[in-house]
Amino acid sequence: MSNINAVIITIGDELLIGQTIDTNSAWIAQRLNELGIDVVRRVAVGDERLAIINALDEESQRASLIIITGGLGPTSDDITKPLLCEYFGGTLVRDERVLAHLYELFKRRNRPVIERNLKQADVPDNCTVLFNEMGTAPGMWFEKNGKVYVSLPGVPFEMKHIMQHEVLPRLKHHTSDALVHRSIVTAGEGESFIAEKLVGFEEKLPAHIKLAYLPDSGFVKLRLTGRSQHPDMLVAELEQLQSELAGILGPIVIAHEDIPMEVLLSRTLLEKKQTIGLAESCTGGFIGHTVTQVPGASAYFMGSIVSYDNAVKQHVLGVPATTLTEQGAVSEATVIAMAQGARRVLNTDYALSVSGVLGPDGGTDRVKVGTVWMAVASATEVRTKEFRFFYDRERNKEMAVKNAILFLWKFINGKLSA
Ligand code: AMP
Ligand code: MG
Repeated sequence: MSNINAVIITIGDELLIGQTIDTNSAWIAQRLNELGIDVVRRVAVGDERLAIINALDEESQRASLIIITGGLGPTSDDITKPLLCEYFGGTLVRDERVLAHLYELFKRRNRPVIERNLKQADVPDNCTVLFNEMGTAPGMWFEKNGKVYVSLPGVPFEMKHIMQHEVLPRLKHHTSDALVHRSIVTAGEGESFIAEKLVGFEEKLPAHIKLAYLPDSGFVKLRLTGRSQHPDMLVAELEQLQSELAGILGPIVIAHEDIPMEVLLSRTLLEKKQTIGLAESCTGGFIGHTVTQVPGASAYFMGSIVSYDNAVKQHVLGVPATTLTEQGAVSEATVIAMAQGARRVLNTDYALSVSGVLGPDGGTDRVKVGTVWMAVASATEVRTKEFRFFYDRERNKEMAVKNAILFLWKFINGKLSA
């Protein structure tokens, strides 16, 4: 079978009222894509019998693989398991392996097993049980009229584990086409500007390769995607196009793969064996959080001084009182003194400082809402930059964090223009 189409059905009232954001579909779609399986539709329904049956009837017309998540819990609001059992004409039987696992799980958690839990070991006799090492609700694999139906728990880490260990290995036997992606990350220009530069490139792009623009907080990711039965040739072709793209776009290209800024920074610092410290005012530690999302950050990240109040800027970082009163907390002179102070206190090769007004209040005639000053200091040099963001507080903060890490990365790599 090549070119399988798939549909993802997510089940749960919490999805419809917006209490839970459906991250399962996105993750599943990515994994299926990697196998060359096209997701043609995503549907969310409530924990309601008729809605689920209708979704199964309709979506199975559209695709040969139907992946379902949610509704497998032990409580009465979760109805997916008995419903699927009935839909495919089976009966529930107790599965000894699932039962043993259940007892083991509860023993480890030091909790008694009650009848309600035992029901989780009941599985339809007409499915292949997808063992759930991470939890109590097993997944199920049904086949009917040449179509495959996979039912998985809603809890994301359980769903992912079963997908990775039980579902994806089985699906590999069903596919022959490979989907291959190659990406480039750019910073500093908008997607329209980039699209103008790529008119010629897009015109001569072969039909089996597509180019996508993915803008995000001042960055634009460009993704080339191709499909082929000969993945080796396709990879070579995509990499050729990727370097052509990079050639056209020149200095705005910051990475030749789809990776976040903090990972890029991590690579640079590990390679150079250098260290960083932070002085964060308006970002309140968010840059430190982002930097430490990368495993192994302890090799280069010494710490962040969250100098929110002026007293901390003055007494911990050594920003002169006169600078704060005369220039203000959000000023070039202040961020310079903050960066130099953080470098001294944290004893690092580089320090980055950030001070701004994220809104909605707090702006003045001199310092408008959305203004963020940043400085980077090394032993011999200080560079500063003034940013202005125009969103709400939360998004302004995100923009500040991403741009701060980019600014630091550029400084360390000698990529800041003079
Ligand atoms: P359930 O299998 O329906 O008992 O789901 C258990 C929990 O998993 C829910 O309370 C949600 O927090 C989470 N969950 C369910 N569906 C999704 C989904 N599509 N994306 C992310 N989380 C989900
Ligand atoms: Mg539920």
